[in-house]
Amino acid sequence: MLEIPPPITLEIDSEKIAWLTFNLPDSKVNLLSSDVMELLNRRLSELESRIATGNPIALVVRSGKLGSFIAGAVLQEIGAISDPEVGRAKSAEGQRIFRRLDRLTIPTIAAINGTCLGGGTELALCCKWRVGSDGPQTKIGLPEVRLGFIPGFGGSVRLPRLIGIRRALNMILTGKAISSTRAHRWGLLDRVFRADSFEVEVRAFAMRVVRREEAQAPRTLAFRDRLLEDTSLGRRTIFKGARKQVLKKLKERYPAPVEAISVVEQTLDLQIDEALAIEAEVAGRMVATDVSKNLIRLFLLRRKAKKVLSPELISQAHNVSKTAVLGAGVMGGGVAELIAAHDVPVILKDIDDDALAVGLQHARELLDKAGEAQVFTAHEAELKFALIQGTLEYEKFDDVDLVVEAAVERMPVKKNILQEAEEVLPEHAVFATNTSSLSVTELAQVAERPTGVVGMHFFNPVHKMPLVEIIRTKLSSDASLATTFKFAIKLGKTPVLVADRPGFLVNRLLAPYLNEAGFLLENGASVTAIDRALTSFGMPMGPCRLLDEVGFDVAEHVAKEMARAFGPRMQPSAVVGVLKAEGRLGKKNGRGFYRYTNGKESGVNREVARILGAPRIDTSSGEIRDRCLLLLVNEAMYALAEEVVASANDVDLAMVLGIGFPPFRGGLLRWADTRGARGILDGLVELTERHGQRFAPAPSLVDLVESGGSFTSSGV
Ligand code: NAD
Repeated sequence: MLEIPPPITLEIDSEKIAWLTFNLPDSKVNLLSSDVMELLNRRLSELESRIATGNPIALVVRSGKLGSFIAGAVLQEIGAISDPEVGRAKSAEGQRIFRRLDRLTIPTIAAINGTCLGGGTELALCCKWRVGSDGPQTKIGLPEVRLGFIPGFGGSVRLPRLIGIRRALNMILTGKAISSTRAHRWGLLDRVFRADSFEVEVRAFAMRVVRREEAQAPRTLAFRDRLLEDTSLGRRTIFKGARKQVLKKLKERYPAPVEAISVVEQTLDLQIDEALAIEAEVAGRMVATDVSKNLIRLFLLRRKAKKVLSPELISQAHNVSKTAVLGAGVMGGGVAELIAAHDVPVILKDIDDDALAVGLQHARELLDKAGEAQVFTAHEAELKFALIQGTLEYEKFDDVDLVVEAAVERMPVKKNILQEAEEVLPEHAVFATNTSSLSVTELAQVAERPTGVVGMHFFNPVHKMPLVEIIRTKLSSDASLATTFKFAIKLGKTPVLVADRPGFLVNRLLAPYLNEAGFLLENGASVTAIDRALTSFGMPMGPCRLLDEVGFDVAEHVAKEMARAFGPRMQPSAVVGVLKAEGRLGKKNGRGFYRYTNGKESGVNREVARILGAPRIDTSSGEIRDRCLLLLVNEAMYALAEEVVASANDVDLAMVLGIGFPPFRGGLLRWADTRGARGILDGLVELTERHGQRFAPAPSLVDLVESGGSFTSSGV
């Protein structure tokens, strides 16, 4: 029988160097579960007794995985904690085990070659030395606040002591991982070695440490920073500034970052054990919050979404090494940039010279911006832009593996384009349409190779929006689906499989929500009241502001399509049509519900009130919110009954990633569960009585209430 190797091994070599190696069997990355922590505890006991005999004389902590040191804790375990005291005890236990490493009397070295996150970073902080590889996968971070809690295995306490308050707050509050170069500059790493000779370099380094030939990286703070960090007035300024920044960005909806600041502030000058006790108390309290539960759930859903296709299906995906985008408009330019940013060559084709130039310019600006934001270097931005080849002809399409069609939203045009493209594309090529409202199946029916036609629905702006709806028709082949799905992941997006129904999922749900803003305006509510009701709920923008973004022409067109497909409950209000008839198109021509100066919103447009009549009623924010959000939930129930997506989980993920439904609420249906199915039903019944049949509850909602069930299940 094959013996499964333990997740942590301890070996001592002939030079008396101990190697503690993390290598979880059957996993791509190392994670710190309770079992792994328990084993680490035992290994540390072993080490302590060996050290007492004089061998080993140094310890290296490393990973046996390629490209990964330790990626953090097992989130399912953290997500299951609902009692703050249990959370505190877990955190304190982890701290106690790491503290044993901290207390070892021999030199200890964390050798980081790959991703080092959360508990991995906290473990490394307990070593006396830290070295990293220069490989691109080596990234060090503390992402806990992104999941609603704080570093609770000593990270909130030790990091500021090592690299200074401001740098530590930067890492803890953004949750972003930093490169080994930056980690070295900030004093988090003592040395950076080449990835290809890392093992050898680490060994030599350990020997030099033993011979006392190595000096610890000095504190690297500039004079001005020291002045701030080492005086009480300076520190107060730092913490006040950090609080202000966090509250401005996250309001009070995400408690963890503010709590993390308090922990750093309170513990800086305390004895380590006293400091750790405070950290454990706060970490325990944070992991038990609903916000943390919701954020962890979404993180896990996002990871799971990338794995919904079976390995057999995914293995049928073709390699995509060359692409084309047809149509260089708002979407086409964005998609071409996204593809080039991921180092895949792309032909960008339009029929109009000016449109092509604008599309190329759009892609160029996005790449330059990414260069400025140091996502990559300016030189890399240059090389990536060179991957986009603008054209007005079908040239060099014979080796294209995947086409994204992003031309105007008209079926005859799209059919024509598909037929033209098929003449020049190779047999295996996938034709992925970015249509937002047309039937992919109808389009596929005119194809010579309908097996190659799928939907790949990106959201605007393409470089920012993390969702892609993938639409498979009855005619699409497994290979086309798998190729598109895998390619979406390569582009850094989260794919959700959606049935070929009008509006797919996201636009379908949005339709009644946006319509309701129109009805509210007709009823005399103000633009400000409507938008504020939804932004205070946590939406990134209110429905009026969103209509401006979408454009009144597009919104009107989509609303009509949805009404045609789904009948009276989606019949739009007259508002958008009235404004459009006045030549108003929203943000794109600077004439929407808001005014725009240089593309930036600059307050409510008072002319709208002149056209629609001055606001006459002060609809409470609760009523506005209910009218818009209950319709979203109701439509989600219709969509689920029609199997537009596979589960409530998909609805939640798509709403968060596609329209920015507030993540701290965990998604649309998770939020609906906080009201309860009965509460949602009662709300809809009451609204039906007051405002009409568009609020009539979906039959599947009534069934849900009768069965006593909930919208989402507790597991992921
Ligand atoms: P757009 O009007 O900005 O651009 C369309 C481009 O297609 C124009 O440059 C036009 O010249 C070009 N074009 C027309 N006929 C062509 C042909 N035969 N071959 C090549 N190019 C041709 O439109 P857009 O907003 O970028 O939308 C494009 C597609 O993406 C539509 O199907 C739309 O429904 C979908 N979509 C749009 C958004 C959005 O927010 N704008 C979001 C998701 C999906």
